[in-house]
Amino acid sequence: MQAQLVVSDRLAAVGTLAAGVAHEINNPLAFVLSNLSFLAGELHALAPELPSGRMAELEEVLREATDGAHRVRQIVRDLRTFSRGDDEVATAVNVQAVLESAITLARSELKLRAQLVRDYCEVPLVEGNEGRFGQVFLNLLINAAQAIPMGQTEQHEVRLSLRSAGDRVIIEVRDTGVGMPPEVRARIFDPFFTTKPVGEGTGLGLSICHGIVTGFGGDISVESEEGRGSTFRVSLPVARRAKEPVDPPLRMPLVG
Ligand code: ADP
Ligand code: MG
Repeated sequence: MQAQLVVSDRLAAVGTLAAGVAHEINNPLAFVLSNLSFLAGELHALAPELPSGRMAELEEVLREATDGAHRVRQIVRDLRTFSRGDDEVATAVNVQAVLESAITLARSELKLRAQLVRDYCEVPLVEGNEGRFGQVFLNLLINAAQAIPMGQTEQHEVRLSLRSAGDRVIIEVRDTGVGMPPEVRARIFDPFFTTKPVGEGTGLGLSICHGIVTGFGGDISVESEEGRGSTFRVSLPVARRAKEPVDPPLRMPLVG
């Protein structure tokens, strides 16, 4: 419990900082992107006057700069999401539908690495926000896929399970990937902690997930074994509305 508290404090502090940084970067970044796009147009217009080797070289430079700027934009978006916290309105959410849309988004990442198995029970609606939960499951699915080496699709699976337990709905994302040693597992919810190569991971995914899930009164935990795989478990409170008895339909007077 103590450790949990420290994590949330640290996340709150980083969140405030992140919001400021993201805000400051956004405007100059918009200039960079629009100027790069202007230059690309100019270069195109110059094409007939330039030797073809030179043209290819310049195009390559522009492409690299543009890719870099897009990557910065993605990081800024992640930071903003991460820092947006408790201003979210909670509604009653259908978790299964959210899981399905996250699967659609993660499909290309998943299909090269693992079989996807769904193990769904019928569950009540949960309290929260569809878009934010979508982000949580997308992050977990992409992490699961990235933990599995490419090209062994037959041997690996990502299993999604959904069940209810008392007044909670439990979602598990289990992979048969590389797993984590204890020293990695201890730090995965820290912002910017990543074991992925530069350019592949920002280390913000799980800290965002943690913030979202706990922000709506849920929990996120992990079990992992090196070389065997990992299971992320998200537990979310059942929506208040779902617990109340449904009003009987209004009786309309029959006309005619
Ligand atoms: P990123 O994916 O950008 O590295 P995350 O916050 O999503 O950032 O994850 C942090 C780290 O946690 C990862 O770099 C990886 O070391 C570890 N991790 C997360 N999910 C898994 C998983 N399913 N299997 C193994 N390691 C994982
Ligand atoms: Mg990630």
